[in-house]
Amino acid sequence: MEFRCGSAIDVGRRRDKQDDSLLVADWIFAVADGMGGHVGGDVASSTAIDALRSTYTEPGDADSLEAAVNRANQAVTQRAEQEPSLRSMGTTLAAVAVIDQGGDEAFGIANVGDSRVYLLRDGELTQLTDDHSVPQELLRAGQLTEAQAAVDPRRNQLTRVLGIGEAEPDVQTLVPYQGDRVLICSDGLYNEVTDGDIASVLRTVDDPDAAASRLVDMANENGGGDNIAVVVVDVVDDGGRAAAASTTITPTATARPSTLMSAEERNAELRDLGKDADAGADGWDDEPAEQELPTRRVTFRVIAFILVLLLVVGAGFGAITWYARGTYAVKLEDGRVVIFKGRPDKLLWFEPTVERRTSITDSALTGGEIELLREGRTEPTRQAAEAYVASLRERIEEREAAAATTTTVAPTATTTPPSPPTTAAG
Ligand code: MN
Repeated sequence: MEFRCGSAIDVGRRRDKQDDSLLVADWIFAVADGMGGHVGGDVASSTAIDALRSTYTEPGDADSLEAAVNRANQAVTQRAEQEPSLRSMGTTLAAVAVIDQGGDEAFGIANVGDSRVYLLRDGELTQLTDDHSVPQELLRAGQLTEAQAAVDPRRNQLTRVLGIGEAEPDVQTLVPYQGDRVLICSDGLYNEVTDGDIASVLRTVDDPDAAASRLVDMANENGGGDNIAVVVVDVVDDGGRAAAASTTITPTATARPSTLMSAEERNAELRDLGKDADAGADGWDDEPAEQELPTRRVTFRVIAFILVLLLVVGAGFGAITWYARGTYAVKLEDGRVVIFKGRPDKLLWFEPTVERRTSITDSALTGGEIELLREGRTEPTRQAAEAYVASLRERIEEREAAAATTTTVAPTATTTPPSPPTTAAG
């Protein structure tokens, strides 16, 4: 892999002291933004950069880059412990290192704090690192919008720095392609220059030194409120990787055109790499999180719909049940009068159930009653059904009484001589 590098650093328009430091070495490029009062800031950033340079002396793997960042953290912490005036100092660190990935050269990217690493690939600018600042953490947690985070007064409050406790760097890897342009910068650049303007300079200014200088100038033109440090690394030769990717299509006519990587595919690959390399809660994890939101919304809607549907269906069921089961029927079954709960005509799947079998048989009934009770007589309540059965029994008893009178009268009529009809009728 071959590179071209450029850098620029400036104190800015409002600060009187340079607390940013940068590193352009054979295998490692970095920016550090120090803080900690009048003396501490520049000591912190330069201590971190010196430690990184002396630790990362040849391409290692992503772990050796992380180890170098941890070594830089130790160096800053030890220095702060030695000098009371430096006790509160700390620094950010954003580093890009050449690493050996299974025999292939790649970039390892590590960051702590709010200095950033960007990639310009196929003309498109992507921020590779996540800021460890209060509003950016809240943004990733979904508690602030991007617009709110950009103007949040807490954006200078960092959640991770070197010099205080564990470094906990985010580390990711990037497979570089010829034509890639990597930008490392402190917040003095991106707080003054929009991503769109940064991309425009990186696209149009070919020389990396000139591009870095142009970016620093723009930050100063826009206010220069902070120190500005910029490193630009161009991938001049990727060892034939890009060429291999774009020539795969020519040897076979059947090769799919997609073997020629598009910008989107490369970016997708880039995202995947970032995700694999960074197992932490930060890194690229916010991308899938954004995709989860609509799914969650859909799920909620589906649940609400199902609940409403269940309510409607339940209400319908209730009404049908009430209608089907809320009546009583008096009906003939196997020659006997029976009180049923339920409609006599068997509505839907609601079978009427037997409430009580009476002692009344069809032999006691008249033809009209039998006809009516074969159909079934509907009553609104159990009492009404019982009342009907009682009235039925009364009528039967009346008929039996009448019949008894007739039968007793008839024999006497045959055995006794005719007497005045007035006595027999009583
Ligand atoms: Mn700064």
